[in-house]
Amino acid sequence: MINRQRISDEFARQASIDSPSFKESKIADYLADRFKQLGAEVEFDEAGPVIGSESGNMIARFPGSKEGAPFMLSGHMDTVTPADGVVPILVDGVFRSKGETILGADDKAGLAEIIEAIEVLEEQNIPHVPLEVIITVCEEIGLLGAKQLDFTKLKSKWGVALDTSGINRAINSAPAANRMTIEVFGHEAHAGVEPEKGISAIQVAAKAVAKMKLGRIDEETTANIGVVEGGLAANIIPKQVTLKAEVRSHNPEKLRQQTEHMLKCLEEEVAAAVIEVNGKPIRASLALQIQDDYPMMHVPFNASVLRIFKEAGVALDRPVAIQAAGGGSDANIFNEHGIETVILGSGMEKVHSVHEEVSVDDMVQVTELLVEMIRRA
Ligand SMILES: [Zn+2]
Repeated sequence: MINRQRISDEFARQASIDSPSFKESKIADYLADRFKQLGAEVEFDEAGPVIGSESGNMIARFPGSKEGAPFMLSGHMDTVTPADGVVPILVDGVFRSKGETILGADDKAGLAEIIEAIEVLEEQNIPHVPLEVIITVCEEIGLLGAKQLDFTKLKSKWGVALDTSGINRAINSAPAANRMTIEVFGHEAHAGVEPEKGISAIQVAAKAVAKMKLGRIDEETTANIGVVEGGLAANIIPKQVTLKAEVRSHNPEKLRQQTEHMLKCLEEEVAAAVIEVNGKPIRASLALQIQDDYPMMHVPFNASVLRIFKEAGVALDRPVAIQAAGGGSDANIFNEHGIETVILGSGMEKVHSVHEEVSVDDMVQVTELLVEMIRRA
């Protein structure tokens, strides 16, 4: 049913078009032509200038050949770097780059699978509901395209995003995250001449961090201090240090609790750091910025999109898995906007590295699953 050569060629063509975040115009032009050729009506939204990208998000609409609620297929056209002069090389059925760049299977494997699925639907005259294909820009740098997507242009209430590793798996839940930038202020003094007149911001922060529960907190929650920056010179008691931290959790209450725990550790140590200089108290202090990075998603097991996913697995006589994942992706944003979206494995592996790879066999298998899902949508 799937044309192996065609999907392999499709992937190779896309991978050969460099498309790091913000520089998506070439791949956008290619995809617009390709989807028009397949019979879609194609438009771009206005996200490009807002986020500073060469392109907006692409929306391709295919009319249905049967009645029913429109179904969304999505992916992203940007890649991480290094992506300068990507040359996809196929050896023993597996695509890799030459070794100096990423391959871009994240997310071009997914895009090739969507295109092949649509080829097959038309070729085999498989009745399907209207399809809305959303291909975003700047996913890799904080879901910028999806966050600016003009959702008024979409009618779908359910769909899939092809954007995770593995095959025959659907991600139905992903954590929400808090990103924090914390500044601890101490008091500057000469470290050799009058150290008793200083409060070391680094020491205050270090004591707080030492008290924090970090890493894996429980099966739903993780926390990390990822950056510590501060101080001017070895002989100056540092007056300022900046920490960058994150907390992720599938459970909003645990997200709040862990965030508060970390802030409490900081507040306690900051409050304890008081000295007296010339009869006057000098205190450490704290400045804090918390950003909720992306909304949580949780698609219930009985959702229609998971029903057709499971049915497709049965029809193809292969085991499928529904899992939680540890990252944020466009699907979080789609779910937030009321499009019940699960993330399907596209077969891409070792992503965000120069060792990235995808096999043609896996892309064929994913496309088979996708066709069976669309047939049931
Ligand atoms: Zn991706």
